[in-house]
Amino acid sequence: MNNLYFTEEHNLFRKSLQDFLQKEVVPHIDKWEQSGEIERFIWKKFGEMGFLGIKYPEAYGGMDLDLFYTIILLEELQKVNSGGFAAAIWAHAYLAMTHLNAEGSEAIKQQYLAPSISGDKIGCLCITEPFGGSDVAGMRTTAVKNGNSYIINGSKTFITNGVFSDYLIVAAKTNPEAGGKGISIFVVDRDTPGISASKLDKLGWRASDTAELAFDNVKIPAENLMGEEGKGFPYIMQHFSLERLIMGVNAHARAEFALDYSLQYMSDRKAFGKSIDQFQALRHKVADLATEVEFCKAFNYSVAYRLDQSEYVVKEATMSKLKSTKVADDVIYQCLQFLGGYGYMEDYPLARLLRDSRLGPIGGGTSEILREILSKIIIDKKAYKPAT
Ligand SMILES: Cc1cc2nc3c(=O)[nH]c(=O)nc-3n(C[C@H](O)[C@H](O)[C@H](O)COP(=O)(O)OP(=O)(O)OC[C@H]3O[C@@H](n4cnc5c(N)ncnc54)[C@H](O)[C@@H]3O)c2cc1C
Repeated sequence: MNNLYFTEEHNLFRKSLQDFLQKEVVPHIDKWEQSGEIERFIWKKFGEMGFLGIKYPEAYGGMDLDLFYTIILLEELQKVNSGGFAAAIWAHAYLAMTHLNAEGSEAIKQQYLAPSISGDKIGCLCITEPFGGSDVAGMRTTAVKNGNSYIINGSKTFITNGVFSDYLIVAAKTNPEAGGKGISIFVVDRDTPGISASKLDKLGWRASDTAELAFDNVKIPAENLMGEEGKGFPYIMQHFSLERLIMGVNAHARAEFALDYSLQYMSDRKAFGKSIDQFQALRHKVADLATEVEFCKAFNYSVAYRLDQSEYVVKEATMSKLKSTKVADDVIYQCLQFLGGYGYMEDYPLARLLRDSRLGPIGGGTSEILREILSKIIIDKKAYKPAT
């Protein structure tokens, strides 16, 4: 299957990325997991290697490569086994930067996209609010036009890179009466007066900083509006296809990592005079899990291929995240069981994997919301269209 989508160049890229991650990232992961803070130097190294600009235009320092290079980056990041580190990177490179690239003006691209690609500036995407994340159109944060400025008031929560990033992509209502049609997107400098952030403690993704943010009369230049006023909701929805596919790919990759690790463990571990991979009860479980992972992978690659051809794959990307995150949770739960007591120990990778994987069916659209979207598409024949 790999040859269907991955060329020799893709494979060479994967190899050099693996070497880079082993040398530059893996030695630091346990420290970052414990401190909850990723040291700044690694962003610059990612930038220097071009890993933050894989899919962005060369004009801003990017590499303008096809989506399968991104798939490789996502897969290999999962295999470092820190969902939090992976999230910090992809939330910057694919949540914040996607908006900069798609809706940012030329000045915004020069000021924020180019330094994001080089690793000099880190971004975050602020949509979810304490009052509710699933109901995006119900957000309460406002941005009121005042001459040549907007004044932002409100709060956001669960924001990945929310404490340590340099800029924030913020969704706010410019016309609260218009519901979803009154949302606009802004880029906001971290050091603008009136912004405060507090770090949240959480079950997994421990290397990633997740923040609650407050905006108290935050005054930003009117030029920091991205795209058209009132178009924020369609922009957000449009980019959800990529975000959901990313989370689907992350899920199949961490499931594959869990399975590969467990197979190695099972071939070494002995019980009743033989290696535990010889017990039929476990062998059949492995067969089922490997089948599920392979199905997800094949499906996710096909969705990536279509997205890369500019197809609007709302249904398929939604299915990708819904199914793959469930499969990842099931596979990791069972793989932890294969390791017996060692599965429960922090010295082995399954404990962290189990914690980190649990975010899959929650972040970027819960599984319940994804089923709602799919029901509307399948039953009500609702057609989702890209923002124009
Ligand atoms: C670690 C982490 C990182 C995150 N990073 C970001 C980020 O960078 N940027 C960002 O903007 N957000 C981020 N999020 C937020 C995430 O996207 C939201 O948590 C998610 O969308 C759910 O919103 P909520 O938590 O407010 O849950 P709620 O919307 O309050 O939902 C609570 C429960 O009700 C269910 N529910 C709600 N509506 C319906 C319905 N219509 N039908 C059936 N069930 C329903 C949900 O499925 C869920 O089970 C992050 C979250 C976490 C935990």
